Amino acid sequence: MVYLTGAGPGDIELLTIKALRVIKEADVIIYDRLANPEILQEAKNGCKFVYVGKEDGHHIMPQDEINETIYQNSLNYNTVVRLKGGDPFVFGRGGEEGGYLFDRDVKFEIIPGITSAISVPAYAGIPVTHRGIAVSFRVITGHESPSKKTSQIDWESFKGDDTLVFLMGLHNLTKISNKLIEIGKSKNYPCAVISKGTTKEQKTVVGTLGNIVELSKGIPTPALIVVGKVIELREQLNWFKI
Ligand code: SAH
Repeated sequence: MVYLTGAGPGDIELLTIKALRVIKEADVIIYDRLANPEILQEAKNGCKFVYVGKEDGHHIMPQDEINETIYQNSLNYNTVVRLKGGDPFVFGRGGEEGGYLFDRDVKFEIIPGITSAISVPAYAGIPVTHRGIAVSFRVITGHESPSKKTSQIDWESFKGDDTLVFLMGLHNLTKISNKLIEIGKSKNYPCAVISKGTTKEQKTVVGTLGNIVELSKGIPTPALIVVGKVIELREQLNWFKI
């Protein structure tokens, strides 16, 4: 059995009870660069660890090799845990890994994880929805440059006050903020960058679309970008003190 398992965003206590159970039972754990490697200490003695690291969308091991690694391990071990940051289906390529196993008749289960997209803003005191302020939120890849001709992102659809959460977008922050201004958002529209969220090293930079690039210079990854009026609620809701 292969468990495609979400590890949560960093705070080890945000791991689900189900994920913790399979980690303790695992014969092999195949993992990414995790926000919290302490999770691996929960594995039993003799558990094999395979690192297939991924950094900010840049793969150390190509995805097809990761798929094959999971498959090969499933032939040799009873309990294989494929541990991924956040949730396996939120920009985690868990669907591709599941599909690869399906094609080869390997049994698998998905164990959802708490995605950084909602939990990291929460630890920065930013609710992704709020009555009267934001009736929805969007989670968007920031990996795709807005200037790319073939962009699949419908930028015009971001004109309203939905909360926007960009993952993997730090290196495109200039392009993303410019594009949002270009579609009609004010330069003073609230924007935040949150780095290493839910961990002891969490850093939050709050600014506007006009100044966020300048303010967040040098902030380390992993980091996500939040755009929306909900950021103003942080004045009351910033509960997480390191
Ligand atoms: N499956 C993951 C996302 C994978 S994409 C999830 O559900 O959370 C990787 C991106 O997630 C990073 O580039 C960053 O934008 C974001 N991310 C993951 N962990 C984070 C953290 N602790 N703090 C800030 N951003 C994080």
